[in-house]
Amino acid sequence: MKVGVVGTGMVGSAAANALVLSGAASEVVLVDKDEKRAMAEAEDILHATPFSHIVTVRAGSYDQLEGSDVVIIAAGVSQKPGETRLELLDRNTAVFADVIPQSLQAAPDAILLIATNPVDVMTMVATRLSGLSATRVIGSGTILDTARFRALLGHHLGVSPKSVHGYVLGEHGDSEVLCWSLADVGAVTVEEYGRQIGRPLDQAAKARIDERTRRAAYTIIEGKGATWYGIAGGLVRICRAIGRNEQSVLTVSMQGDEIEGVGPVALSLPRVIGRAGITGTIWPTLTREENAALTRSAEVIVEAAGG
Ligand code: ADP
Repeated sequence: MKVGVVGTGMVGSAAANALVLSGAASEVVLVDKDEKRAMAEAEDILHATPFSHIVTVRAGSYDQLEGSDVVIIAAGVSQKPGETRLELLDRNTAVFADVIPQSLQAAPDAILLIATNPVDVMTMVATRLSGLSATRVIGSGTILDTARFRALLGHHLGVSPKSVHGYVLGEHGDSEVLCWSLADVGAVTVEEYGRQIGRPLDQAAKARIDERTRRAAYTIIEGKGATWYGIAGGLVRICRAIGRNEQSVLTVSMQGDEIEGVGPVALSLPRVIGRAGITGTIWPTLTREENAALTRSAEVIVEAAGG
């Protein structure tokens, strides 16, 4: 599987490294307007291949993306002091207007995987600029939030997070929706299993898990300035689902949903992912409160996109 990474800052280069260490890709091409940086990252990542998997890793220009199955878009600019969110959005839209046509010219059959934040809005921008079917423009969305939710539930219940099923839907951001009513382990609700083992998921425990899921990025940013390893893992998971044509269900963002009359908008729902991109969206049965929270989350994204 060939994967292009456009934007080799912390997120793009961590994703490239994770693709190599996991063996999810056989070829990785790094593109950045800062060619020296892309070159240095490619060299550094390449040097670990004798310890992991034999993967071709190189930096290059857009034409080197030819034949990519997936192009990860992690290019962007960060907020300047005093800059509004809409001003930042304008600058990131300009970055996408630069990188997306050039990527698709070289790799017209690639699936675009959007990682730049605010990821839901940038997925909307990428879908518009690319002219691709929305099913081929995947936003990483809440893939990581869902992973954090499952990890925290697994820790509380003393089971592997892989055996906990739970979903975080909506915006990748403050308004995201943790679907408690659907979280289960071994075919019983997490609350029921918590009671069975004498570790109830009472209001305090739920509030703690909610806070640690929703605020995780803030805590990490406080400690190290930005987040990159977790999202890199999520990007690799999506690439694997595409490369192996898994039809796996992952919470990712896609443009086009209408939530109770709000939209079309890009937000995260459980979606089926394979070689063709997104081949299905699963509409969960939510409680009234969860539905209202999802609608609110859709409104937040529409507002952030400029209304
Ligand atoms: P993050 O933490 O999200 O990875 P960074 O600021 O570390 O953010 O990385 C963003 C990367 O995007 C930088 O390496 C930057 O050079 C790159 N970039 C910004 N604009 C463009 C562009 N127009 N074309 C290619 N790369 C770009």
